[in-house]
Amino acid sequence: MTILPQEIIRKKRDGETLSADEIAFFAQGLSSGAVSEGQVAAFAMAVYFKGMSMDERVALTRAMRDSGDVLAWPDAGAPVLDKHSTGGVGDNVSLMLAPIIAACGGVVPMISGRGLGHTGGTLDKMDSIPGYATQPNEAQFRAAVQAAGCAIIGQTGDLAPADKRFYAIRDVTATVESIPLITASILSKKLAAGLQGLVLDVKTGSGAFMAAADDAHALARSLVDVANGAGLKTTALLTDMNEPLASAAGNALEVQNAVDFLTGAHRDPRLEKVVLALASEMVVLGGLAGDADQAAEVARAALTDGRAADHFQAMVTALGGPADFVEKAAAYLPRAPVIRPVTPDRTGTITAIDTRAVGLAVVALGGGRLRPQDKIDHAVGFTDLVGIGAEVGPDQPFAMEMVLDQG
Ligand code: URA
Repeated sequence: MTILPQEIIRKKRDGETLSADEIAFFAQGLSSGAVSEGQVAAFAMAVYFKGMSMDERVALTRAMRDSGDVLAWPDAGAPVLDKHSTGGVGDNVSLMLAPIIAACGGVVPMISGRGLGHTGGTLDKMDSIPGYATQPNEAQFRAAVQAAGCAIIGQTGDLAPADKRFYAIRDVTATVESIPLITASILSKKLAAGLQGLVLDVKTGSGAFMAAADDAHALARSLVDVANGAGLKTTALLTDMNEPLASAAGNALEVQNAVDFLTGAHRDPRLEKVVLALASEMVVLGGLAGDADQAAEVARAALTDGRAADHFQAMVTALGGPADFVEKAAAYLPRAPVIRPVTPDRTGTITAIDTRAVGLAVVALGGGRLRPQDKIDHAVGFTDLVGIGAEVGPDQPFAMEMVLDQG
């Protein structure tokens, strides 16, 4: 029987359930171009309004995974694990988590993205390290994973090309905010990376894409059910994004904050709590500890005895960065010429933070993009960001701002 894209769209428009074959046909047409841009947009809008059952979500995720290369790690000799965050501000968790898990005996091939909207991107942060190759070829990627136990890079080769086209069309047709489509988009890429365990950090609060707790919960539920349905062991934590996680926001500034965290020079308490909670989940998922308590101990030990910092350095070296980066990060990272305090006119206590506005302020300073092709400035952003409950005033700044000129 011939399947027609317009019949698939009509079925979904009318609230019917699509078969796995129909979904596979549509995903195939997404990557081959056989389904037109208008048809993709109409399909996305139909799903936006009518939703998808769990079976449909699993079928779409699997079909998008299979639209390109699917990596395998037969020689890893250890559980292949990863974490995905739904995006935050001052969220440099990946930079510490990947080497902690490597130090615990896991393997972390972490394929990360660039900043999106007001949220920072792990790849943009890693790009502030001179010489570090965020877009290596597959052989270099595998060599780095082998040498360091972890490698943080950008999308390699041809992973989930159906998602690339689908996402670009959703982005300009007001159909990004569909839980079934977000689920398939995120998980198709994670499944294509050949993982054995995945932990999701689903953010909620003023700096999250899903600001309302109910929406964040529904997204977490969908991601966990679909990932497990597609054969990937997955758990999720809902974490608070009502204030930036690190006391720094901005690319190079968050790398410095991560190095300070790994070496013990400075650890922001909320950040430490989230990093170790996610690390414990990953250690349990990978079977690297007997239970949650033991996993928490194993993860903390990997951090505090310096092994995680060693794995981070090994990753930087393997991907072309300076061999003494952890020791001399401040000398290597770009630095903004102007540093000035951001102060309120009167004294008071911080009772709430518009975290999204903090992220947008980093973008406005040049630390994020207005258009996908924009170049960013890695040095700009904020340090010494205060949290909820802090006293501020004309002599007690909210933050220090790193800018390119006095303007
Ligand atoms: N991130 C993704 O990769 N896909 C989405 O749809 C939303 C966020």
